[in-house]
Amino acid sequence: MKTIIEPFKIKSVEPIKFTTESDRERILRKASYNPFLIPAEDVLIDLLTDSGTSAMSAKQWAGIMDGDESYAGSKSFFRFEKVIRELTGFKHIIPTHQGRAAEKILFAIAGGKGNYIPNNTHFDTTRANVEYSGAEAVDILTAEGKKPDVIAPFKGNMDVGGLKKFIKEKGAESIPLCFITVTNNSGGGQPVSMGNIREVKKVLKSAGIPLFLDACRFAENAFFIKKREPGYSRRSLVDIAQEMFSYADGCTMSAKKDGLVNMGGFLALNDDNIARQARNLLIVTEGFPTYGGLAGRDLEAIAQGLEEVLEEHYLTYRIRSVEYLGEKLTSAGVPIVQPPGGHAIYIDAKGFAPHIPVHEYPGQAIVCALYLAGGIRSVEIGSVMFGKYDSTGKLVSPSMELVRLAIPRRVYTQSHIDYVAEVVLEVFANRRRLKGLRITEEAPVLRHFTAKFKPVS
Ligand SMILES: *Cc1c(COP(=O)(O)O)cnc(C)c1O
Repeated sequence: MKTIIEPFKIKSVEPIKFTTESDRERILRKASYNPFLIPAEDVLIDLLTDSGTSAMSAKQWAGIMDGDESYAGSKSFFRFEKVIRELTGFKHIIPTHQGRAAEKILFAIAGGKGNYIPNNTHFDTTRANVEYSGAEAVDILTAEGKKPDVIAPFKGNMDVGGLKKFIKEKGAESIPLCFITVTNNSGGGQPVSMGNIREVKKVLKSAGIPLFLDACRFAENAFFIKKREPGYSRRSLVDIAQEMFSYADGCTMSAKKDGLVNMGGFLALNDDNIARQARNLLIVTEGFPTYGGLAGRDLEAIAQGLEEVLEEHYLTYRIRSVEYLGEKLTSAGVPIVQPPGGHAIYIDAKGFAPHIPVHEYPGQAIVCALYLAGGIRSVEIGSVMFGKYDSTGKLVSPSMELVRLAIPRRVYTQSHIDYVAEVVLEVFANRRRLKGLRITEEAPVLRHFTAKFKPVS
């Protein structure tokens, strides 16, 4: 087989800034060893997130010029609506400024005290919006999804038995809807099988509970189904995506992921009553229903992006570039969550730096070392992000200490990925020299964004 190449040529370039190791030492110190506080200009390869960091195509940029900025009834809205309706089959298409705005509106209507929302794994904004409404967010993930070194094709699946039990325990009347997140972002970007979506739907249908997809990475999930699930290898990606949506009653979407744009999202659903309430809320918080917090040009770019994202060559390259990085790291012995997900590689920091105790944040130490060694920005997903203190002030850690290398869409080429692998391997070779960190300043909630650190001496 020949090399899988980037299925595009480059028409416009953005220079990246090279710094020396001593520059980076100074920059890192000034940023208090927190990558969120490093100016993006001082980053060579930015793997902080795949959200809103995509490169748009020439056709999307053409759409930006062509956007209709009419307040009501913009032609760009009708294109947006048509593309999403054809893809999802849902009746009501409601634009929002990003994914969490769609979540906020949906849970304001369907959430509320005494209610439960099951999901394979809630993404943090989804959980926050469920809880803000007063409802309880419950993760019901298949057991293999919780084991980082187990190789399985669909580690994002929902635990169907667990879901049945949960419905029986709490009663269907206290479960206004159930979510499946494709791919499972907080669970390592692992896909969900069509079989699993179908089974979950069957269970929910008999209980009268609607199914919603958190569809941020629906196209990446469709690609995994095509490659890994029997019976799908010859089906088109559009067809597979349409089948996924056909089992659902609605979805929330952050177009900053598989919409291939820098900003935008939507809520789509069939229920007339919820849609009417959602549009009323939309007018209060986002805007008129034909723009919902977006400019006409944004709607145009999203419509175009949603068509491009399901191209076979694009997804082949996309998933391969993540897998390629995973293979390079694995073959050198770097411990990562297996198998690589759709949008990121997750390094197992406990395995990488076992000499650093969790209260000295091994993940954060690796994040700093990757920046220092090669100007790469990554993010800790472990005790810094999710750590809490018990009543005695002792750190309570999550089960895994991870470092995420999220790959922006269509932004970096194979040589960038090769460079990233080289830097990770260099840090890995010198891992025994890594030092832990302590927190010198932190906010009471979401501390990872602003916390300040100092190396432990
Ligand atoms: C990004 C994301 C969201 C939230 O979307 P925003 O556009 O960032 O508000 C929700 N769910 C998942 C799975 C996501 O990855």
